[in-house]
Amino acid sequence: MTAADLLAELDTIQPWHLDFYQDLHRHPELSFQEVRTAGLVSDRLSHLGYDVHTGIGGTGLVGVLHNGDGPTVLARADMDALPVREATGLPYASTATGTDSTGHQTPVMHACGHDMHVTCLLAAAQLMADHRDAWSGTFIALFQPAEELGTGARTMVEDGLADVIPKPDVALGQHVIGLPHDTVASRPGAALSAADSIRITLHGRGTHGSMPHYGIDPILLGSAVVMRLNAIVSRELPPGHFGIVTVGSFQSGSKSNVIPETATLLLNLRAYDDRTRQQLRDAIERIVKAECEASGSPAPPEFDYTNAFPLTENSLDAYEKVSAAFTEHFGNEAILMKPSTVSEDFSDIPRALGAPYLYWIWGGFDPDTYRRAEADGTLSKVIPGNHASTFAPVPEPTFRTGASAMTVALMSYLARRS
Ligand code: ZN
Ligand code: ZN
Repeated sequence: MTAADLLAELDTIQPWHLDFYQDLHRHPELSFQEVRTAGLVSDRLSHLGYDVHTGIGGTGLVGVLHNGDGPTVLARADMDALPVREATGLPYASTATGTDSTGHQTPVMHACGHDMHVTCLLAAAQLMADHRDAWSGTFIALFQPAEELGTGARTMVEDGLADVIPKPDVALGQHVIGLPHDTVASRPGAALSAADSIRITLHGRGTHGSMPHYGIDPILLGSAVVMRLNAIVSRELPPGHFGIVTVGSFQSGSKSNVIPETATLLLNLRAYDDRTRQQLRDAIERIVKAECEASGSPAPPEFDYTNAFPLTENSLDAYEKVSAAFTEHFGNEAILMKPSTVSEDFSDIPRALGAPYLYWIWGGFDPDTYRRAEADGTLSKVIPGNHASTFAPVPEPTFRTGASAMTVALMSYLARRS
């Protein structure tokens, strides 16, 4: 039995999965609060005969299926939703609310398609469980919390993931995005950027606005910092070399005639290799410290590295093997994805387990609409990006493409060779 034979069975399980997807979409849960989702996944995996381990890193779980000799393959889906008010108008749109980490009530929506990831991986898990004669080895289906925070994968690793699963020979992950639903794409090497978020506190000395000479103005200091930071990419990286430094927030003071004590900057940086990432971090710290020195700041600046996303750097071997299988199954040339400036924490898992990995993207939108918008130059208006309140993959055939891609990739390692 080949991957194609296995996928012919997809039709028989499809109605169940579409209901399941719409139910998940109606009931999104914020990062580290994926209790209901994890419960549904756990029930399904147990029912299918997997050894299920729950509560890894909070709501994370794995299902392990041992099926004779052969490689061990791990596939991962993320489960969390976002604090976004859904505006899709779909009959199965979310009206859910949740409590965020600061205690505030917020609308919640699956605006990044993680409900689709969960459904596709469960479908692949069902096909693998129903057709054990077709393959040999060990399959690990992993469902992680809190991808949106960049900490869910790491939390599972730190909570002893390696103690409950065998070491995988390869790890696989996928994401649905604003592409046509007939498109599956990957690339060897750096596929998604590494990212850091940094909170920087600058210290001045508060005084009356009419007597600036008694104080040290953190707003002026912060302004100089922001101007200098924006020269890092243009003046310190070679032309054409990718890097991003964004100041996303600059807060200080609350009254026109008070020079405040401090200023706080929130920064985000992106890079396609760890050397550039380190170069950006070093340049930021150097500039901030020097500007504080120049202003006579009474205390050194504080750097708090908050969200950190690892680099997603696909294995060449895994890319060659899986993209050949995609080409054979989907019948078109393997599509090479462009490196993307977005970030993911998936690679924290294979990195910690010492396994090579492959991450790919697939589309969730009508191909004709997409290609017309692309030709008109209206893509950004017509196809919503991930995290938009209108992000709504077409359930079918997006599900079919995602479930097929995952199954084909799994079978490229696990299919029984006669
Ligand atoms: Zn996201
Ligand atoms: Zn996502």
